[in-house]
Amino acid sequence: MIKFLDLEKVNNRFRREIDERIKGILDKGWYLQGEENDRFAKNFADFCGAKYAVGVANGLDALRLIIKASGFGPGDEIIVPANTYIATILAISDNGCTPVLVEPDIRTYNINPDLIEAAITPKTKAIMLVHLYGQAVQMQKIWDLAKKYNLKVFEDAAQAHGAEYQGQRVGNLGDAAAFSFYPGKNLGCMGDGGAVVTNDEELYNKVKALANYGSDRKYHHIYKGLNSRLDEIQAAVLDVKLPHLQQDNQRRREIAKYYRENIKNPLIVLPQTYDEKAHVWHVFAVRTAERDRFQKYLSDNGVQTIIHYPTPPHKQPAYAEWNHLSFPVTEQIHREIISLPMSPVMTDEEVEQLVEVVNRYK
Ligand SMILES: *Cc1c(COP(=O)(O)O)cnc(C)c1O
Repeated sequence: MIKFLDLEKVNNRFRREIDERIKGILDKGWYLQGEENDRFAKNFADFCGAKYAVGVANGLDALRLIIKASGFGPGDEIIVPANTYIATILAISDNGCTPVLVEPDIRTYNINPDLIEAAITPKTKAIMLVHLYGQAVQMQKIWDLAKKYNLKVFEDAAQAHGAEYQGQRVGNLGDAAAFSFYPGKNLGCMGDGGAVVTNDEELYNKVKALANYGSDRKYHHIYKGLNSRLDEIQAAVLDVKLPHLQQDNQRRREIAKYYRENIKNPLIVLPQTYDEKAHVWHVFAVRTAERDRFQKYLSDNGVQTIIHYPTPPHKQPAYAEWNHLSFPVTEQIHREIISLPMSPVMTDEEVEQLVEVVNRYK
């Protein structure tokens, strides 16, 4: 069987080093807000080419904290792609802000920059971008709009660690970025984890305090904060894995290139990229009209797949107030999309076998 993602194999490559680092933490008996967090935050900020990073409990919290630290709340609108994982939108609602959904470009699956201006109102405070499936959003039009209307630009980079736009890494393309280290992400820990990355010192200090009960020093609380911290064990695991991320992303690119050059089936629409470095292929999502039939065919032929995602946020019961709305491009993507196996530990044989199976589909 070709697994969608063999996480055990992904992490076993670093088993000895991870064991040692965890042993060090147990020996020391220091579990939160210690050296491991400081070291990883510095290394991850450097990796992104940004000044600051704060480890937090998960990707959703990273998003929530960025909005909270920016002081946005009820009455404020934030523009967000209709085609995203629901967490991006939940973070906006959770702060009492209004998510304003914008359709994606069917070629990139990312927000369609040409549709953003029409969604801007006097209440708009920010554009929340999502580098979906691992492909960096093409930023220039968005930067221009942000400047013209005085808007903040936030990145949901949960799927795109290491992706680049014109030589600049995600995490460094807006005012602040949220990362997730959920186990299956390109950089994943062994439980939940996330980070906020920014070049803004004030925002950095505020996120750091907000994530720690709103305190700037022990038992002194300047904000009504949360408890959202990355623990020392997860920080250590991430710090072991980070130096290998570029190589892992390179392997993903190699696999994606092979898929794109060798999958030749008129029933399958392959993903596109505007620049090899822009994409880190968190998922390799293809489209096909009869998606369920294709998924069953792959499963019958020993190939595991996942659908990212079967139901768009505006059709979810949690957003019943939007269920009547229509976003045809988003809905088409959710109807037709299916993700093929993609991970840095796939073998050449698996990759070749997968292409053969897909090409035989009729
Ligand atoms: C994974 C993910 C999140 C949420 O991250 P968690 O760590 O699971 O909370 C947010 N946005 C996107 C696009 C994601 O893929």
